[in-house]
Amino acid sequence: MSVPHRKDILDALDRWFQSHSEGPTLAELCAALGWPADRRGSLQRWLTALKGQDVEWEPRKRRSLRLVKPCQVSETTPKHEEMPWLVRDERLLALCATAVYDWLETSSTPRTDIVGNGPLATVSRARLPLSLRLALSTFDLALMVEGKRPLTLEEFLNLMSIPVSQWPVVPQLENLDPESVILESGSLTEFAEYWVLHHKGFLHEWQESIMLQVLETCREQRLYDAYRSYRQLLIEKPVMPVAVFQQLLVKPEFYPIKKQLRAMYVDVSLLDGEDEPGLCPRCGYLQKRLPSGLWICRSRECEQVCEQQKLLRRQTIGDPAEWVAISPGMHRYVTIPGLHELSLAQALTDMGLRVELWPEVDRYDLYVSFPSGERWALDVKNWDYLGRTTLSRWPVHRSPIASMTAVVFPDDRRHLHLDKVRSLLEPQLDGVRLYWSSEILRLAAERRMGHA
Ligand SMILES: [Zn+2]
Repeated sequence: MSVPHRKDILDALDRWFQSHSEGPTLAELCAALGWPADRRGSLQRWLTALKGQDVEWEPRKRRSLRLVKPCQVSETTPKHEEMPWLVRDERLLALCATAVYDWLETSSTPRTDIVGNGPLATVSRARLPLSLRLALSTFDLALMVEGKRPLTLEEFLNLMSIPVSQWPVVPQLENLDPESVILESGSLTEFAEYWVLHHKGFLHEWQESIMLQVLETCREQRLYDAYRSYRQLLIEKPVMPVAVFQQLLVKPEFYPIKKQLRAMYVDVSLLDGEDEPGLCPRCGYLQKRLPSGLWICRSRECEQVCEQQKLLRRQTIGDPAEWVAISPGMHRYVTIPGLHELSLAQALTDMGLRVELWPEVDRYDLYVSFPSGERWALDVKNWDYLGRTTLSRWPVHRSPIASMTAVVFPDDRRHLHLDKVRSLLEPQLDGVRLYWSSEILRLAAERRMGHA
């Protein structure tokens, strides 16, 4: 599973409760995560997103943070009421504040001219900051759901100057002052400053939060197949033509998560400034051009595989406005590790074993079932470093319903020196084993033949 912030937070809480009976304060949790103190706002937003699913928390009550154990989640989580997906929490507000902040930072339009008739009508969306383009397209989607027409840039900025409570889609937040506005007299308000996502990876955080929401929805509604199709799509089609994407959106399996899926894929023209975008022959994601003019994949691992397997052909895609893609962050954290998950699943399936990918909405990467009824739970990690800290930061818990739980490393990660560190690490893992993928395949073949 590759939603790093969620995992980091849950793991930090898990560690915290091993030595404390009361929950941490935001500052303590920030410190436990190794995050700088000024990321408390971001942490708070994450806890709000996780609330009800992974944590219990009363933001106004000191030390009220509690961890919800996974087995309790599906039984205790109430269903969310029907409302457009993006107003359920604070994401829309954070995106709008960031969009306006970026606009003020980069626009040459005098601040006082922002509201009113003027040159804005002629500004091309392609020239706007990424956050603003994303905010506009998010509003477009919400309005489309309600059968309304999209906003112009001027209308969007006008909207940012009126109270949040009067927006056409109102963020449903506890304790939100109905008079709060984002933009006042051409400047960002203090209220909005709190919500601005300052770091450059905010698109990744945005998409990661959508990923988290898909996880929540699929867990609540037990949409195992929808989740599996969705994960597989992010791995196998990180970039695709708009026409193909539109056909996917109407598939019944994607219906419950259609809006999140729509938000996960962004126009390639928003992501890629290249004149002739092209795709990596291994992973199918957008390549980048080096100053030397050479095109390479954003993944170093892909570059190594391409070189070894002599995969040289680059597929150019023509007009980027006709294509959609996930963000580079999702490519890195979902697509690339996912290639290993799919390849291991395929090799085990080819042996005649029954393989379930991301069972119980991502409890593990794979369940492997043998004809005898025995089951293994496997998690695949394409880490670049393996040590005590990595395994305690991203722990894999022993499955109560599997005869073996193992962390599997692709064979090309020889630099992890698994053979050396295994005997040191395994005794601390509560029975969880560490294997190369070739070892797992050999053991599975032996077990299937009844030799092990
Ligand atoms: Zn690649």
